[in-house]
Amino acid sequence: MAPTRARGSLLMDRYAVIGNPVAHSKSPQIHAAFALATGEALVYERLLAPLDDFPGTLAAFRRQGGLGANVTLPFKLEAYAAASEHSARAVQAGAVNTLVWREDHWFGDNTDGVGLTRDLRQNLGCRVADQRVLVLGAGGAARGILGPLLAVHPRMLVISNRTVKKADELAALFAEDGPVVSETARNLAGQSFDLVINATSSSVGEDTHPLPWPAGLFAPGAFAYDLMYASEPTRFLNWADQQGATRRADGLGMLVEQAAESFLLWRGVRPETRAVLDGLRG
Ligand code: NDP
Repeated sequence: MAPTRARGSLLMDRYAVIGNPVAHSKSPQIHAAFALATGEALVYERLLAPLDDFPGTLAAFRRQGGLGANVTLPFKLEAYAAASEHSARAVQAGAVNTLVWREDHWFGDNTDGVGLTRDLRQNLGCRVADQRVLVLGAGGAARGILGPLLAVHPRMLVISNRTVKKADELAALFAEDGPVVSETARNLAGQSFDLVINATSSSVGEDTHPLPWPAGLFAPGAFAYDLMYASEPTRFLNWADQQGATRRADGLGMLVEQAAESFLLWRGVRPETRAVLDGLRG
């Protein structure tokens, strides 16, 4: 059966980002730029779902002809539950950030991790293969990036989290995918890494507690990457600067790259990301 076309909006195919809050989302701007650049006719909107009714919002969107959605905080687990078919990387992450309507059901994928590795390797020229990589945090974002990071063969991948048990669980979960271990903040003293990725939400909001990790984590020439993005350098990136990290980047490139991967899933065409990323940074 052919995908159902949206009624209204000049019969353009309909996509959305669903979250709560969602007003700040840059996704409509990114997908509008992709659509313009690729000549794809689509509309992409923001949908604020009530915290207790993600399924109702998704069902209403589908009734109005919605063909695909990005899903952001706090609904990535509920999006997983809403999908009756999943990609391998969504299963690995246990979370869905992209939904695609397939004939009579939602297909769930997770493009966050591949968004990160594309940004690191292609946009930033940061080598991951054979490098010592440290991931700080063990929440939903960390879970989404571990599989794609291990797929590009770091020499070792260490996970460290404020709540140690969660890091232990993630390391065990991904043990078959590559050389991954968990480490307490205290035991990291004396170790250094080529790439340190902040996948905590410690850069968000007014949290002023000192970061719980020891000094000396950055090897000479090390790269610091914060999944969080902001118009000013984040708290983690300022800390990394003080600690001697040579190169630093925030997660705006990851956001654009994960969006491009979603666009590819929906439309079968991969948009160029460079101009869109430059435009957002501008
Ligand atoms: P979760 O709420 O699932 O996890 C939060 C993590 O941060 C936990 O590991 C938590 O530790 C840790 N944490 C929170 N505050 C502190 C602190 N003060 N010090 C140390 N650790 C702390 O959030 P997500 O994993 O979904 O998101 C994490 C970050 O990634 C957010 O900033 C989000 O915006 C960003 N992100 C960016 C994307 C992009 O495209 N650029 C995509 C997805 C996420 P504990 O377990 O001890 O509570």
